[in-house]
Amino acid sequence: MPMLALSNVSKRFGALTAADAVSFELRQGEALGIIGPNGAGKSTLFNLITGNIAVDAGTIIFDGRDVTRLPPMQRCFAGVGRSFQIPQPFEKLTVFENLLVAGAFGARKAEAEVGDRCAEILVETGLIDRANHPAGGLSLLQRKRLELARALATEPRLLLLDEIAGGLTEGECGMLVDTILAIHKGGMSIIWIEHVLHALNSLDERLLVLNFGKVIGMGAPDTVMASREVREIYLGI
Ligand code: ADP
Ligand code: MG
Repeated sequence: MPMLALSNVSKRFGALTAADAVSFELRQGEALGIIGPNGAGKSTLFNLITGNIAVDAGTIIFDGRDVTRLPPMQRCFAGVGRSFQIPQPFEKLTVFENLLVAGAFGARKAEAEVGDRCAEILVETGLIDRANHPAGGLSLLQRKRLELARALATEPRLLLLDEIAGGLTEGECGMLVDTILAIHKGGMSIIWIEHVLHALNSLDERLLVLNFGKVIGMGAPDTVMASREVREIYLGI
């Protein structure tokens, strides 16, 4: 049984089709990369999976359960966690407090256990030495790490990352990618949107390409990137 199955998921904004009969499946423990030009519908797809936006048509099955009509919080409780394209931590709270807030939102554990898990996440995400610093004073890379940590604190079984490496230098991007790959190797199922292709290079699993809300390629990265349509549309060659 797949962890996530979308079938014919569609969403229009007025005349614009942001998701056009999107179908794909994600296996338990898999990492899937999503690429596509700006405005292709990548973030919309995440919003449909998390329930922040309601589908016009189609179904979303998570862990064998039809979550198509569930509100976002119920999907979060079910195990769908996400990072946002624009990180919005509580600037005045410390890094650790930010995690506790996210952990309390996940709310499937006693308070003490949430604290323990958040401390582990600080280690996993490379933030332990920033635990007691206000989030407002973090560097961009540390803010990205905090965004990842906040998503993990909700105890997801599926992690959705939306352009988490955006704005980082290549060196910083490499460090963040290493952290994410370690989390994936620990068993986390991930769907990872990146506009910057090299961020996904170490992710040698499957790649899905979106354009105008449509899936125009899906499969092994080499095969997908070799397709004429993807090269024309995505790389402009
Ligand atoms: P991507 O993340 O691939 O850059 P988005 O999913 O953010 O693309 O957007 C896809 C298209 O849908 C864009 O043309 C965008 O302007 C439009 N769009 C996204 N969200 C909304 C919304 N809530 N209302 C109206 N249009 C939207
Ligand atoms: Mg986006």
